[in-house]
Amino acid sequence: MVATPRPGSPYHGRPTSSMSTHSKIEEDLHDVAGIDYDKVTIKRNPSVAVLYEEALTYEQGTVISSAGALCAYSGKKTGRSPLDKRIVQEETSDKDIWWGPVNTPISEHVFSINRERAIDYLNTRPRLYVFDGFAGWDPKYRIKVRVVASRAYHLLFMRNMLIRPTDEELENFGNPDFTIFNAGEFPANRYTTGMTSTTSVSVNFKRNEMVILGTEYAGEMKKGIFTVMHYLMPKAGVLSLHSSANEGPDGDVSLFFGLSGTGKTTLSADPKRQLIGDDEHCWSDEGVFNIEGGCYAKCIDLSAEKEPAIFNAIRFGSVLENVVLDEETRVVDFSDDFLTENTRCSYPIDYIPNAKLPCMGGHPKNIILLTCDAFGVLPPVSKLTPEQVSYHFISGYTTKVAGTEDGLTEPTPTFSACFGSPFLVLHPQRYATMLADKMSQHKANAWLINTGWIGGSAASGAKRCPLKYTRMLLDAIHDGSLEKGNFETFEVFGFQVPTDVPGVPSELLNPRKAWTGDDAEFTASLNKVAGMFQENFKTYESGATAETIAAGPKA
Ligand code: ATP
Ligand code: MN
Repeated sequence: MVATPRPGSPYHGRPTSSMSTHSKIEEDLHDVAGIDYDKVTIKRNPSVAVLYEEALTYEQGTVISSAGALCAYSGKKTGRSPLDKRIVQEETSDKDIWWGPVNTPISEHVFSINRERAIDYLNTRPRLYVFDGFAGWDPKYRIKVRVVASRAYHLLFMRNMLIRPTDEELENFGNPDFTIFNAGEFPANRYTTGMTSTTSVSVNFKRNEMVILGTEYAGEMKKGIFTVMHYLMPKAGVLSLHSSANEGPDGDVSLFFGLSGTGKTTLSADPKRQLIGDDEHCWSDEGVFNIEGGCYAKCIDLSAEKEPAIFNAIRFGSVLENVVLDEETRVVDFSDDFLTENTRCSYPIDYIPNAKLPCMGGHPKNIILLTCDAFGVLPPVSKLTPEQVSYHFISGYTTKVAGTEDGLTEPTPTFSACFGSPFLVLHPQRYATMLADKMSQHKANAWLINTGWIGGSAASGAKRCPLKYTRMLLDAIHDGSLEKGNFETFEVFGFQVPTDVPGVPSELLNPRKAWTGDDAEFTASLNKVAGMFQENFKTYESGATAETIAAGPKA
């Protein structure tokens, strides 16, 4: 596609093929959304270089890092806004949706008000950016996604995160299956029925549209598409999963489930294994496929030594969000959390040297549930029975450590069904049942890995399980040696825990032995955490089998 040279370009005025006639994208956006192409310049699937130029020219604060990444700033919102997410209640999807705190209904009328507000705003912009791409690597299940955004930063982000079409695919793209209107620079109207703040993220399964107002956090778009896949895929008999995935030299696939910060991205980037994806997957009758075309890594305290693959992916084309740089050298200080602890980088998956393209694999051999337990009571690795997997998948336990300063804050437990309740659309039991069926059909092994604290709680000043040991435990899972070793039963939770793993201090494997404080204190903490599991599981007891319920901890 040839674009008209910018004013001031030495070859401005040189005729191009796209002059005078209106392009299909201009006509489409006019027809579907009333975008006035006489006033608004629409750029479809611009190159990385053009998006850099536009972001640097028009978006305040945007700079280039010393490594060549585009450093953009999302303003007030530096994380998702789950409380401002709404799902349109309409007859085509109403009966399927898990209504409640995760999926809060709004009417079709209110959606129209938000949509109109977003489009009115987009129409005031001199430039709009459109990206057409795919979600889902398996051509059988992929959906065509269109992103319409006022910020070049947002478009580059989605260019990284969606699957980039070939020239031919773009040429024959046709109409999208789903469209995101991102007017995040402009607030929602708080007096609109059902709005509780100036931020609004609404999804409409009948119109196949998502409208964003009042948040410029780019992750909202990627997780919006994930939500859509959580609705569409199970209907097609495919299980959508909040997990990363990689593949060993013999073609054995591992899935890593876990909530934010538990290690999906970090642990799936493994030089010994090919990366299928770091966050969102589907498991069909043919195997596993990634939903995304890129990765979205946490950057806080990132180092070239500990996470070389991710560190080296930060270069021209990558988008760094909300990081602090040296004024002069433009070197990023990854330890600086002045703007947020949630500093991030998005990059195309092929920036990871051993990415597997296309991002698909066979049926998983190992299912790894990740948790980051700040109470220091769960073993760094445990082998799970199928019933324990069901119990812990529905529970989705991890902890958040609020202000990490001084290591003195009390950890906050989080239970998030299927390790991703903010993205679930159907009742959690529906995903859990599909997982159990697929695991038994394909005889997958299952493990629970605690990447959190060991030796004491976060509040006691203990440390997280060193990354190098977690990696060794994974190596032992993958080379099959862990399975063949000796196990003991871990109290209360009933897990099988290995007694020795080469290279890993054996006292680390059993949290009671690793505990540096008082033994009675460990017992109390362990029972406290077990009690929290039991309390949380009450909501799911009516839908769960007796075997699953029995697989929970016994406080
Ligand atoms: P999100 O869903 O938000 O993308 P994620 O599960 O991908 O989250 P990561 O980005 O992998 O989470 O974050 C894990 C963080 O924890 C990284 O910053 C990593 O350096 C740190 N970490 C510390 N110790 C460990 C460990 N033993 N295993 C894994 N990660 C660890
Ligand atoms: Mn991640």
